[in-house]
Amino acid sequence: SFELLNKFRDPELCGKVLETLRTELSGGLRFMEVCGTHTVAIFQSGLRSLLPEEIVHLSGPGCPVCVTHESEVNAFLDLAGRDGVIMATFGDLMRVPGHQGRNLKKAQADGARVKVVYSPFDTLKLARENPGDLVVFIGVGFETTAPTIAATMKMAREQGIGNLRVLCFHKTVPAALEALLADERAGIEGFILPGHVSAIIGLEPYRFIADKYGKSAVIAGFEPLDILQALLSMVRWRNAGEARVVNSYTRIVSDAGNAKAREIMYEVFQPTDALWRGIGCIPGSGLEIRPDWESFDAGKEFGIVIEEGPALPGCKCGDILKGIKRPDECPLFKKACTPANPVGPCMVSTEGSCAAYYKYKLD
Ligand code: SF4
Repeated sequence: SFELLNKFRDPELCGKVLETLRTELSGGLRFMEVCGTHTVAIFQSGLRSLLPEEIVHLSGPGCPVCVTHESEVNAFLDLAGRDGVIMATFGDLMRVPGHQGRNLKKAQADGARVKVVYSPFDTLKLARENPGDLVVFIGVGFETTAPTIAATMKMAREQGIGNLRVLCFHKTVPAALEALLADERAGIEGFILPGHVSAIIGLEPYRFIADKYGKSAVIAGFEPLDILQALLSMVRWRNAGEARVVNSYTRIVSDAGNAKAREIMYEVFQPTDALWRGIGCIPGSGLEIRPDWESFDAGKEFGIVIEEGPALPGCKCGDILKGIKRPDECPLFKKACTPANPVGPCMVSTEGSCAAYYKYKLD
């Protein structure tokens, strides 16, 4: 309800928690928020400028567009030029740059058939209306979007739609967090875990953060009070010499997650290794289409190979996604790279850290 929501935005309550946080904070705290929506919430609410200086805020690899590997971008750009192919995509992929500044928007201007859809289910209609073409949906995103795409494939099969394909570049969050923790350069001391992904996977897959790495993590909502309380909890646990993984977003996320959504997702997809932009290959951190569903697999049909290649020259997105650098430490930030003229994906997506730094004028 609005009343409940207002409570989580109440300036007086937030002020009190902030004060307590200042008092109890001993030493700094380097925390990372994993979800692009948290990134935007932290900037938009003004929290970032209110937090004590010793709290270092890092934006992690939670923006699906930002972590889509350049080789994956080049793969869908190549497909977009083919005869008989209609590419279907979420709008935020349109301006992601691949090779030599190419992107889907430019490909569209050059005649490629690219359709922006708002839901994967829209591709069913598109496929029905274009029986002589292949409709290829670009599947990016985490455990939040993958179940909907799996459900779309199931519906296509039930409805006998034979010309829908999925280019499957889905990624899963916990394995990426483990890769970040294993890289000590970022020195991450705690995570604010993504609300939407956690609503699907629940609390269990994050336990290793405390058990194996001795760090804390909180599944938190997107309101200022949610975020402040998560930070205060992490500070308190650390002061007490503890590490915990806790779900504080119980008004939306159940500890068990959404078993039905996971069932649909794993009926169609299975874990595989995946390349993350700037991070490289993370074992078991991606989803691929199961052999039973191979007739939907655009990657197999077109022989697409995803491999490490040269990164975008000068772009530091990789280091930013790993928490090693901040956007304003990239030499191209606000100079060669702006939202109107993005060099890397972190500046393209509204949920990307570089775009957030730019928009909220932090440098
Ligand atoms: Fe890449 Fe631009 Fe961000 Fe630099 S400012 S890391 S070039 S997206």
